[in-house]
Amino acid sequence: MRLETLAIHAGRQIDPTTGAVREPLHLSTTFERGEDGGYPRGFAYTRAGNPNRIALERAVTVLERGHDAIAFGSGSAATLAVFSLAAPGGRIVCGEDCYHGTAQQLREIVPHWGVDVEFVDTTRIEVVRAALERKPTSLLWFETPTNPMLQVSDIAALAELAHAHGALVGCDNTFASPVLQLPLTLGADLAMHSTTKYLGGHSDVLGGMVVTREPGRALDALRQYQAVGGGVPSPFDCWLVLRSLATLPLRVRQQAMNALAVARFLHAERERVERVHYAGLPDHPGHEVALRQMVGGFGAVLSFEVPGGRERAMAVAARTKLFTRATSLGGVESLIEHRASVEGPLSRTPQGLLRLSIGLEHAEDLIADLDQALGG
Ligand code: PLP
Repeated sequence: MRLETLAIHAGRQIDPTTGAVREPLHLSTTFERGEDGGYPRGFAYTRAGNPNRIALERAVTVLERGHDAIAFGSGSAATLAVFSLAAPGGRIVCGEDCYHGTAQQLREIVPHWGVDVEFVDTTRIEVVRAALERKPTSLLWFETPTNPMLQVSDIAALAELAHAHGALVGCDNTFASPVLQLPLTLGADLAMHSTTKYLGGHSDVLGGMVVTREPGRALDALRQYQAVGGGVPSPFDCWLVLRSLATLPLRVRQQAMNALAVARFLHAERERVERVHYAGLPDHPGHEVALRQMVGGFGAVLSFEVPGGRERAMAVAARTKLFTRATSLGGVESLIEHRASVEGPLSRTPQGLLRLSIGLEHAEDLIADLDQALGG
């Protein structure tokens, strides 16, 4: 079946007791045992398993073309769960442009587990090869496109290389969503989402998901980490994300089309805009790879740099009327953010850079808003 059909039907069933077309919300934390002490309906305690969570995990597994999925209370909880696979004493090689919270985990938490961490430029295969040859590596982790520089890495090439060196390959697919990119079909072992973003899609729910390509040790360890670690999403959060999946293909494709229009507008601005970072632009260094591995669009986040550094970037953000000045991305409303000031003192993001999350407003209205915000 095709994505649009799967987005509506995967993980769902008519409620067998009431006939409800939309799945009931199962708030109960505990479930009745059978007379023999077993759990005849498959549920015992919500941390270990909940009908709403299982429905969501099944749906995302299908959309990502995976074997199974493990839901967490946030994207950050999901990445930390994956990094635990390298403990104790393993090694993680991570793409150097990535969500600053992911980098923070790898700098401030993961080393306490005795795990060695190296950040490299994953857009350059030879750099990754050198890192993998330096020391045995447990996990290669990267985003594509990245947050916030929208860099593109070649998933298939990286997966082949990392597998040849015995490393597991994980891709944070948050920016693309399964609508535009399927890392597991390109060879990655794990695809991860902050479901807070496109999968949730309405800026009203926090969540994370790891999808595995195959059964095996990683899946078992992640399933145990979920149930024993306990960082699970609430049933209502799962219900909300599952509800939102039905419109995921429509939303993401339209948002990506809007983003391309905005990127083209900014790119044509020679004086008021210094640089535009968006893989949909032919002069983006990752455009060819993106064309190969993304289908139907290049995502709906883009960044651009204005001359005049931090002060001018802040002034542009202050003048927008339709774009809301806020962090996060993937919702139906457009957001603008001065990224360096959110990322803190270790940020490598240029001070003149603004990140846009493009929503579902009309592209011409968004362009008009940016036009007036850029000023004369
Ligand atoms: N991965 C990426 C690419 C992100 O952009 C984010 C959050 O912005 C995360 C992971 C973390 O997700 P969460 O905020 O749901 O913990």
